[in-house]
Amino acid sequence: MEQIHHYIAGRLVPGESGRRGPVYNPATGAKTHEVDFATPGEVDAAVAAAGAAFPSWRATSLSRRAEILFSIREVLDAHRQDIAAAITAQHGKVLSDAMGEVARGLENVEFACGIPEHLKGDFSEQASTGIDVYSIRQPLGVVVGITPFNFPAMVPMWMLANAIACGNTFVLKPSEKDPSTAMLIAELMHDAGLPDGVFNVVNGDKVAVDTLLAHPAVQAISFVGSTPVAKAIHETATRNGKRVQALAGAKNHMVVLPDADIDMAADAAVSAAYGSAGERCMAISVVVAVGSVGDRLVDAIARRLPSIRIGDGLDPASEMGPLVTREHRDRVASYVDSSAAQGATVVADGRRDPAYDKPGFFLGVSLLDHVTPEMACYRDEIFGPVLSVVRVDTYEEAVRLIQENPWGNGAAIFTRDGGAARRFQFEVDAGMIGINVPIPVPVGYYSFGGWKNSLFGDTHMYGPEGVHFYTRAKVVTSRWPDPATSSIDLGFPSTR
Ligand code: NAD
Repeated sequence: MEQIHHYIAGRLVPGESGRRGPVYNPATGAKTHEVDFATPGEVDAAVAAAGAAFPSWRATSLSRRAEILFSIREVLDAHRQDIAAAITAQHGKVLSDAMGEVARGLENVEFACGIPEHLKGDFSEQASTGIDVYSIRQPLGVVVGITPFNFPAMVPMWMLANAIACGNTFVLKPSEKDPSTAMLIAELMHDAGLPDGVFNVVNGDKVAVDTLLAHPAVQAISFVGSTPVAKAIHETATRNGKRVQALAGAKNHMVVLPDADIDMAADAAVSAAYGSAGERCMAISVVVAVGSVGDRLVDAIARRLPSIRIGDGLDPASEMGPLVTREHRDRVASYVDSSAAQGATVVADGRRDPAYDKPGFFLGVSLLDHVTPEMACYRDEIFGPVLSVVRVDTYEEAVRLIQENPWGNGAAIFTRDGGAARRFQFEVDAGMIGINVPIPVPVGYYSFGGWKNSLFGDTHMYGPEGVHFYTRAKVVTSRWPDPATSSIDLGFPSTR
């Protein structure tokens, strides 16, 4: 059984606790690896390595840091296939989707290559007579990323690219379900010339996370994962004086107005609900069919389902892979029964798919119609290939559903009416809006984040807000007067 260790100060460090977790190939169901779970002492060693690397890394010139980021970009780009294969082997998503994940992650590294531009401050000459005022942004020190299983390459890249570009040093605690991708990225960044200790990986569970949250040398925590954990991490880490951004769960609605192109809306709903087996925080999990569109839309979605090819992510013919673990697969499948018992119409049941009987953690696609907000399948984040359809009479009812939902990651509208789309964008409480776009993940030079229970903290991730999160401001007021003009003045300094 292959072991997955930690990556500290530029080398692999075996865990000594003896505590380990299983890592599976979800397509076969076989346990392929064991991952070490860090002790507080091992976490301490990673933070110490990052702390030791910080003074010289923050003093490294902007042009040298940008040069290393360009080199990281080149090395990661050259290994896209390897990173994607590592993702598929432990997460299960199909290789083409994993390649898409790597591409979206690389966008963040590309953004960070422009760090000399992003860190430019303001300068006000002659703010007062003979006095100049300027602002600079400086790194925080040792910063930490705690990441979920569903994007084992992209979410770490959301964080690490800006963090290190800004001059911080980093400790990553990846998901224990698919940790090998992070280890590969660490080695590739080392090969690209990143100095030892600037990027470290500790593997583990709650013990490692709790140690990081309480560590006095850790300045900031970036978290992405489920809502209960995000909320707890935000509370604990802010109490411990850390800067925190905790991105959380979601229930993304796609509103389809009666004037929408039904085939286009059905294509979008199927792609966004079942891509990556629904294990995306920006997946569409609820379609809100407005007015007369209901029957036609459900019919159009249902007609598309039998042709979705489910299988091993390494098979180029597969369009949807397995779920990440057997327990998660079974939990997702249980929503079909509970929804039926609560009055939903089961249009498609993923357990009937032949893939369900294979040894891996496969589940076919499920479609639930006539779902109401009281049902468990509507209230919970299912995080699997289950799409619920809620039917409403008016646009106002559709928007009310979204507003009353506790999450606010993404929301999409499908319509040909520009006025309705603009009104939706204006009034909906969600951080990312799609207009005829079902998965509106912002490009790397904007920032990603939800509202309400989808984000705890006030800074979104990557892009300009990422640079802001990983730096703090300093304003300098400066003068170079002739000493001969110097005098005592007890008044409060004011401009002249
Ligand atoms: P998770 O919350 O179970 O785990 C996330 C991280 O937290 C992992 O590293 C895990 O080891 C750690 N963790 C888990 N339980 C913990 C505990 N009790 N104490 C301390 N640490 C703990 O999430 P997941 O299942 O890996 O990922 C799926 C979730 O992530 C979904 O809810 C999804 O919506 C969310 N997600 C959100 C975004 C976003 O940007 N908003 C992006 C991707 C995923």
